[in-house]
Amino acid sequence: MNTLHMPALIQKKRDGNALSREEIAYWVNGAAGTNPAVREYHLAAMLMAVFFRGMTSEETRDLTLCMASSGAVADLSAIEGVCVDKHSTGGVGDTTTLVLVPLVAACGARVAKMSGRGLGHTGGTLDKLESIPGMRVDLGMGALLEQTSRIGCAVLGQTGDLAPADKTLYGLRDVTATVDSLPLIVSSIMSKKIAAGAQAIVLDVKAGSGALMRTLQESIDLAEAMVAVGQLAGRPTLALVTGMDQPLGTHIGNALEVKEAVDILSGRARGRLLEVSLRLGAMMLIAGGYSKTEGEARLSLLRALDSGAGLAKFSEMIAAQGGDARVCDDTGRLPKPSRVIPVAATHGGYVTSMDTAALGNASRLLGAGRASVDDRIDPAVGLVMNVALGTRVDAGEPLIYLHINSADAAAQVTEMVRRAITIEHNPPKALPRLVHAIVRPGGVERCG
Ligand code: URA
Ligand code: CA
Repeated sequence: MNTLHMPALIQKKRDGNALSREEIAYWVNGAAGTNPAVREYHLAAMLMAVFFRGMTSEETRDLTLCMASSGAVADLSAIEGVCVDKHSTGGVGDTTTLVLVPLVAACGARVAKMSGRGLGHTGGTLDKLESIPGMRVDLGMGALLEQTSRIGCAVLGQTGDLAPADKTLYGLRDVTATVDSLPLIVSSIMSKKIAAGAQAIVLDVKAGSGALMRTLQESIDLAEAMVAVGQLAGRPTLALVTGMDQPLGTHIGNALEVKEAVDILSGRARGRLLEVSLRLGAMMLIAGGYSKTEGEARLSLLRALDSGAGLAKFSEMIAAQGGDARVCDDTGRLPKPSRVIPVAATHGGYVTSMDTAALGNASRLLGAGRASVDDRIDPAVGLVMNVALGTRVDAGEPLIYLHINSADAAAQVTEMVRRAITIEHNPPKALPRLVHAIVRPGGVERCG
């Protein structure tokens, strides 16, 4: 009955034709290990054909849905209310999850979130949470449902083998120069969100020196493609394209980012991290149907911030997951490094640009992140920024403080940090935008 045949499917895509859902399911099942007729070399050739020929929105939707159902699919329907998820394409000093999950939950939204660990220059939410003494992220599906129903939010590690086809395809893309293909990135990210049970999705697509996509237009195109697929898959999806021209918050590292999140939820700190968290949080309230307009949503979030309801929710979530909720009153309870050393500017001037990915890598070298999946991380170490784009500094003034536990990498990291921060005589003409565009199913709204 089944007459599908990989060489013919590869040829069809190679020649620029659209594949049907059945044809896509055939090779995705191969990637998931359930179709022995499909070999790795077939998949590699198919990925290259997709890379050159692209996919229609319908093909991208079909690929996404086939990948999403290639393994376990979380069922969040037992939770009353719409479960809203958020995904960031990966930033540095980007702790929006820890700020906005408690805030949106304090506004009545449901967030049953499965987060990931850090890899490469970007941090991972699970690693950050685990820097809180006692905090558990491995509580399983039952706890995810129970805790979200009871207090409105949970942030845990993945339960079950979600989207196994993505693991195979992502591994193959990595070694066949097919990572940077729009339909392949869209299906990779969206399949995992859908398999994790998301009923509405907000995407934070980064643009700038620490971002997945090289140009702003590419980031906007990616956001548009993901919103289109989310919509076609029946999950209301909104996206913001936000700037990653410098670290989002001032703290980079695991306990350091928890401290910054607590400082923000306590009203002691503001700035770019809070602003992007409020913008994304507002999108989550809208995508989940909890607010009608961005203005109304923002007002709810600001009320939750000012009343302390957001901090109280974070404290409740930490306690529910076995963590020491006293960190919310006293961030001194978080792991501390043995030494803090400043990296001084070698000359005076204005900070005109930053290599954000290099700063993320510097933090990783100190031990805050991983180079490979089985590396151990040190929760206490990282970087604290003393400057932002546009800051005027004198020679000898600290640019960044290194929080370290071993002097091993200090000299190398000091050099990396100095090279990652450009100081020039004249101030920058303009500061980069924080939010470049809002992407809705109806179209792209460019900001400013
Ligand atoms: N992140 C993913 O999960 N997949 C991609 O393809 C790119 C970024
Ligand atoms: Ca529900």
